[in-house]
Amino acid sequence: MMIQKYAVIACPKCRAHAQIIEYGTVITKCQNCSAALKIKKLRLFYSSNILKKAISARTQLQAQIHGQSVEFGSVPEMEFVDDRPSIIKPKKNAQKIILDLLRSADGALEIEILRMQALDNDVDADRFDKILEGLLRTGDVYSPTVGYVRLV
Ligand SMILES: [Zn+2]
Repeated sequence: MMIQKYAVIACPKCRAHAQIIEYGTVITKCQNCSAALKIKKLRLFYSSNILKKAISARTQLQAQIHGQSVEFGSVPEMEFVDDRPSIIKPKKNAQKIILDLLRSADGALEIEILRMQALDNDVDADRFDKILEGLLRTGDVYSPTVGYVRLV
């Protein structure tokens, strides 16, 4: 059973536009710059099954983008409760996926490339960050140079 849901995304192309998509959308078009956006590759800043909540989240995100107080790539986490029921995303072994990706790349990758590959394997962006942080902390991987990670 699919419950209709909404998510808030931001366009990484023009870096000036936040918009609401319906959950399950694969590709959408930026209403500002007309870029085709693959939802899977985008960070979902907020999601809700209540359109009103999604609209107010979108408004806040839009304000943050326009304020440009932060680099687009590191827009801080919105202070919203993610009310997606956890049953929608069965937990896979995301850490194993990330380690396997590194192994298949001879043990080292640019973090952004690893992130994209992880997203392709259904590891969401927030989870990716947390796992990578954990791996760096436990010493399973290290960062030989800024922006890269390598298996120990
Ligand atoms: Zn755009």
